[in-house]
Amino acid sequence: MKYEGNIYRPPSEAYSLIVQVTIGCAHNDCTFCSMFKDKRFRVRKLAEVMEDLEAARREYGRVGRVFLADGDALVLRDEDLMAILAKIRALFPECERIGVYGSPQDVLRKGVDRMAALREAGLGIVYIGAESGSDRVLKAVKKGASAAEITEAIRVIEDSGIPASVTFISGLAGADGWEDHAISTGRLIGEASPSYVGLLTLMVDPAAPLYGEIEAGRFRLLSPQGVVDETILLLEHANVQRPCVFRSNHASNYLSLKGTLPGDKERMLNELKGANCLKDERLRML
Ligand code: SF4
Repeated sequence: MKYEGNIYRPPSEAYSLIVQVTIGCAHNDCTFCSMFKDKRFRVRKLAEVMEDLEAARREYGRVGRVFLADGDALVLRDEDLMAILAKIRALFPECERIGVYGSPQDVLRKGVDRMAALREAGLGIVYIGAESGSDRVLKAVKKGASAAEITEAIRVIEDSGIPASVTFISGLAGADGWEDHAISTGRLIGEASPSYVGLLTLMVDPAAPLYGEIEAGRFRLLSPQGVVDETILLLEHANVQRPCVFRSNHASNYLSLKGTLPGDKERMLNELKGANCLKDERLRML
């Protein structure tokens, strides 16, 4: 197996076989993100990916899940992605799920029919970093997609029969504009109603452009209690149309929350409102 640079994957892919089909992220412009700033984006040669898969088959016993890294595997041409999915199914018949990160633009470019064909070929989950439902925030962090595009992309994924796992970031608007971030994000979750929502809390690595904004005093971080208040407002506005697993139990979060919307909303709101012990800053991690 060959890996290039640091490897990132969603928390739920912790035990997956990870294979890089791209190096880096095609967008690579988000101001809060430092993950791929040291990598120049490229699609890996198909032959190299196939060699990695064969090497993994020789090396590992049971492979229950495969995650295709890096930043946005859906940037690949359909025929190449199909060939990789077919190879995984042939080499790892025990594999229960294949996952990728997908950008809203790549999903919208493919559309429901092509995404459904990828599901038929074995694609089992698409992770999308939505970050916020507020166009003001999305623009400020240079996400490269609007709230309407993100909503539509989530719908395309779900309509194609693939569960969408969508990440948002509490504190991303900072101390100025957190209400808009919370309300707009809650509304987007309700409108798009993805199968899974993950809410992280902003932590900024020194290599991320936003770090310089904080140092210069142009971005004021939201306080821990502000993050709790923001999450309450977000949940109050998240009126989903179908069950949505909501998790805010990442190492970056001040408080661990987990439940399924809409049924567990009141319980999670009560946990937030009654929170009197938030995670120590020193224990938080990206
Ligand atoms: S947050 Fe995602 S889309 Fe934005 S630069 Fe990082 S990897 Fe790329």
